[in-house]
Amino acid sequence: MIHFDNSYARMPQGFFARVDPTPVTKPRLLALNAPLAERLGLDADMLRTPEGVAMLAGNAVPEGAEPIAQAYAGHQFGGFVPQLGDGRAVLLGEVVAPDGARFDMQLKGSGPTPFSRRGDGRAWMGPVLREYVVSEFMAAMDVPTTRALAAVATGEEVWREQGGLPGAVLTRVAASHIRVGTFQYFAVRDRKDALQALTDHVIARHYPDATGPLDLLDRVVERQAQTIAQWMSLGFIHGVMNTDNMAISGETIDYGPCAFMDIYHPDTVFSSIDRTGRYAWANQPQIAVWNLAQFATCLIPLMGDEAEAVEAATQSVHRFAPLYQAAWQRRFGAKLGIDGAPNQALIERLLGLMAQQRADFTRVFVGLSDGSARDEFTDRSAFDAWARDWQALSSDQDAMARANPRRIPRNHQVEAAIASAVAGDMTRFDRLFDAVTHPREARDEWADLATPPLPDQVVHQTFC
Ligand code: AMP
Ligand code: MG
Ligand code: MG
Repeated sequence: MIHFDNSYARMPQGFFARVDPTPVTKPRLLALNAPLAERLGLDADMLRTPEGVAMLAGNAVPEGAEPIAQAYAGHQFGGFVPQLGDGRAVLLGEVVAPDGARFDMQLKGSGPTPFSRRGDGRAWMGPVLREYVVSEFMAAMDVPTTRALAAVATGEEVWREQGGLPGAVLTRVAASHIRVGTFQYFAVRDRKDALQALTDHVIARHYPDATGPLDLLDRVVERQAQTIAQWMSLGFIHGVMNTDNMAISGETIDYGPCAFMDIYHPDTVFSSIDRTGRYAWANQPQIAVWNLAQFATCLIPLMGDEAEAVEAATQSVHRFAPLYQAAWQRRFGAKLGIDGAPNQALIERLLGLMAQQRADFTRVFVGLSDGSARDEFTDRSAFDAWARDWQALSSDQDAMARANPRRIPRNHQVEAAIASAVAGDMTRFDRLFDAVTHPREARDEWADLATPPLPDQVVHQTFC
């Protein structure tokens, strides 16, 4: 028995469409996250049974679930689309964990919905497994994120640019799936009543202390500033920071063609659909501000006198820059073992050297703790000069060990794990998963997973 309480399914007309997942021919469990199941109060052993797998595949709807596809709009690469919505996902319902915490349980890749437009409603195994491993790495590094509960192969083919590919369904868990685009959906339709209901719902669910829409905006700005600073500190590139992919909870959501940099460069982009580099690593904070400005615009009708509301909302969004700056300094300060002291110039000098000399982002920071960082540079004297200034300020080894993962889900390893999974072998994926969800542990058996790709292993593009 799963304890569901589906508050979103009680929202007014127009917030969602009721739709069951479409059954698949031959469900097979690829991965199950037992610790997360336990966190939710679910029985992992039950989830492994044929009945459990049927539920995770969308072949059976568990008692208490009320499957819905949520409506939302969004700016995609800056262009507004008034209707998007869950086109290949259904929210089964909200699981209430033993401690009372509430989690959305969503199936992604579960078949068509009224929002699918021309899409097939499905996902292929590659992006499902990428999201599974990347989101769980992020969780292990304490980044606010949706979680991966399970991945199931469907036994059916999905057609993409690459041809026919094995289909899969991801079970994703989130504080909620309410996005900036959810607000935009009602704002563009002038549905002030719905905007108010959504705002009340979000405050009750995510920001119970917030006093109203302006205070809600302040808090979302603050959370996003924290989350994006964490992304930056891990070399994470989301890839599709459209407003429909930015969660109001502050969680990282919708891992599509996301990736981590190997070699550091601020302009790095992997997503095959990001042709102009709009969502490059270094652009992510500005894009967050842009997205938050869209969120603010949606809330203004709820904030009384329009001129005053515009002024207040503008100021609220402008708080992102100082909040982000402080969070960035704190995160990168921790990576260098420097607490509090002025460190901006020192961090920027290091990043400048790394970009110039094409150093590996993850290995440089890990290497600062064991003396191997200088091996990542070709001009060692430039690094040594920087390191002398750094050593004078750095003292907090524990902070460094917490902030700097020894292993990340590197593109080439993720791709290799996906290729093996497609061929029917999950051992490579399981090993990678284990290694990157214990990112701070030093273990010789995982040494090969801490190495950058060889020239012929470099992945230049990711697809969703
Ligand atoms: P995304 O780029 O994954 O954030 O998706 C943007 C929009 O396209 C969302 O409304 C998705 O539900 C929809 N979408 C993406 N892929 C599919 C698909 N295969 N079938 C139907 N809708 C899709
Ligand atoms: Mg999306
Ligand atoms: Mg997506």
